[in-house]
Amino acid sequence: MATAVITGSARGIGAAIALRLAQDGYDIALNDISEAMFEDNDIVERIKANGVLCEYFVADVSNYSQCEQMVKDIKAKFGTIDVLVNNAGITRDGLLARMSEESFDTVIAVNQKSVFNMTKFAGSVMMKQRSGRIINLSSVAGLWGNAGQFNYSASKAAIVGMTKTVAKELGSRGITCNAVAPGFISTPMTDKLNDAQKEAILRMIAMRRYGTVEEISGVVSFLASKDASYVTGQVIEISGGLSM
Ligand code: NAP
Repeated sequence: MATAVITGSARGIGAAIALRLAQDGYDIALNDISEAMFEDNDIVERIKANGVLCEYFVADVSNYSQCEQMVKDIKAKFGTIDVLVNNAGITRDGLLARMSEESFDTVIAVNQKSVFNMTKFAGSVMMKQRSGRIINLSSVAGLWGNAGQFNYSASKAAIVGMTKTVAKELGSRGITCNAVAPGFISTPMTDKLNDAQKEAILRMIAMRRYGTVEEISGVVSFLASKDASYVTGQVIEISGGLSM
């Protein structure tokens, strides 16, 4: 059985991706930063209901040695790592002039360094297997910028560069690496926006609605599937026509 690892997957887009990949037949390694994220949470049971294995691994993906240990533990438990979805991400929004150094460093560590950590260790497993799929969560903020998100935009733009570089470095080993760039998706991350911000955003979206987590997980499922075997180094925007 093939195994998929999804970071930051106790809730939101990551949980939806894990569920969809379970429906596709993958055994699932979930990850989140704290044990508490998996308490009062039926995600493990919902995944197992698809007849696949599922286990969660608590680790801070911004921490290099915790990622190294987590990848070792996943490999020991499941035997292979076939799909890595670098999904964990945070926001610490604020205008550049008022942004603290701590807020900048934290977002870069969780959103950007995590991709280095996880891709290095899981990529090494995939190189030995001579196959694998790596799918990174970028954002429209990384492609087009967004006032109030200097740190977040920087981290999500870096993911585009890392995606293309990994595609070039690992392509000859049968590993593809792509990114998806969601627009505004209804999750706890976007629930933090106030009503005026939500209204302003809706006016910019051609489809005049927020996306759903299933509309992200469907594209990730495609990128992990046989149908996408010759797709690599690409960034697919999923934004309902936000940027045209
Ligand atoms: P979310 O609901 O906040 O879920 C993210 C998960 O990652 C949370 O469970 C979070 O735990 C976890 N996490 C945070 N820091 C972590 C760390 N250091 N190590 C391990 N796990 C950690 O976010 P989402 O909306 O589903 O977003 C998922 C991804 O899509 C992110 O990369 C985000 O940037 C991207 N994205 C989202 C949207 C959107 O509209 N929602 C748009 C574009 C891109 P805690 O809650 O404990 O921090």
